[in-house]
Amino acid sequence: MQLKEQETIEKINKIRNEKSVYIIAHYYQRGEIQDIADFVGDSYAMAVAARNSSADIILVAGVDFMAESAAILCPDKMVLSPEPAATCPMANSIDISDVLRFKQEHPDGLVVSYVNTPAVIKAVSDICVTSSNAVKIIEKLPRDVRILFIPDENLGRFAASKLDRPLDFYPSRCPIHAAVTRDDILQLKAQHPDAEVLVHPECAPEVIDLADYTGSTSGIIDYAVNSEKNKFIIGTECGVMHKIRQISPDKELILAERELICPNMKSITLNKILHSLETLQTRITVPEDIRAKAAIALEKMIEYAAM
Ligand code: SF4
Repeated sequence: MQLKEQETIEKINKIRNEKSVYIIAHYYQRGEIQDIADFVGDSYAMAVAARNSSADIILVAGVDFMAESAAILCPDKMVLSPEPAATCPMANSIDISDVLRFKQEHPDGLVVSYVNTPAVIKAVSDICVTSSNAVKIIEKLPRDVRILFIPDENLGRFAASKLDRPLDFYPSRCPIHAAVTRDDILQLKAQHPDAEVLVHPECAPEVIDLADYTGSTSGIIDYAVNSEKNKFIIGTECGVMHKIRQISPDKELILAERELICPNMKSITLNKILHSLETLQTRITVPEDIRAKAAIALEKMIEYAAM
C-alpha cells in the first residue's frame, strides 16, 4: 500500500471515530474500498444493511440506485454518495411511460423491478427484486397474472426459464455483462478444461447455458470459495475476484472477458470517500411522495425474500 493511500485511510478512520458513520460497499468496488468498508455485499445485502444500520451517516460506495435505495429505506439518516455521477446505464434506461402503459393495459398485472432502477420507477413498481432473489420472489407471485420485468432482459429471461413461466421483458441489458459472448466462454473452456464457469444472470442466455453455476455476486463468491475445484472462469464484474482471493488465495480465477470492468463502479475512489465524509456531500434524498411509494416495493422485496 502506498503512503498516500495509507494517509487517506487514516483520515477516513479519524472521521469514523468522531462521527457515527457506516460505509457500505458493493462487491464491484475497488479492492481498497472493499477493505475499508464496514459492510460489503450485493445490492440486496446492501439495502438490508443500510436499513438495519444504527449509524447517523451511511456512505454508499456503489452506483446511484444503491445510494437511492438506502435513502428510500432510511429517511431519517444522512445518506452520502462519494460520486453522484456514478450511475448505472441500465437502471436509467427505463422510460416511465412504458411502465405506466403496461399498468393501464393490464390493470391486474404486476410490475417487478430489478433493484437497478431509479426511485421514480420503484415508486410505480409492485415489488423489487435483485439477482439473488428474483427467482424466489417471482415464484411467490400469482401465476395467472401478467408480469412486466424491468429493466434487465437477461435476468428476466433467466428467472422465466427457471420458473417455466412467461414474463414480459424490457429491452435493456447491463452493457458490462452483455459483453461476455458464448465464444469467449467456449475459448476459455478449451484452454482451461478443468475450470468451472461461474456467471451472473445479467449475462446473455447463450452464455448462461454454458455455465456450471449462475448466480448473484454473493452467490458466485460463495460458490467459488466453497467448491472443491480450484479454477474458475468468472463471468461477472472483476470486483468479485477481490473477495474470492481474500478468502481463498489459492484459487485460480480467469475473467471471462477482459473488459468486465464497470467504469461507474470504479469511478469511486478512497479520496472521493474522504472528501464526501469531510464535506458531508453529496447527500442523496428522494422526494417524500416518491420515497414512500418506492419504500413499499423495496420493503416487500425484503419481506418476500425472507419467506
Ligand atoms: S455492472 Fe452493469 S448493472 Fe452493475 S452498475 Fe455497472 S452497468 Fe449497472
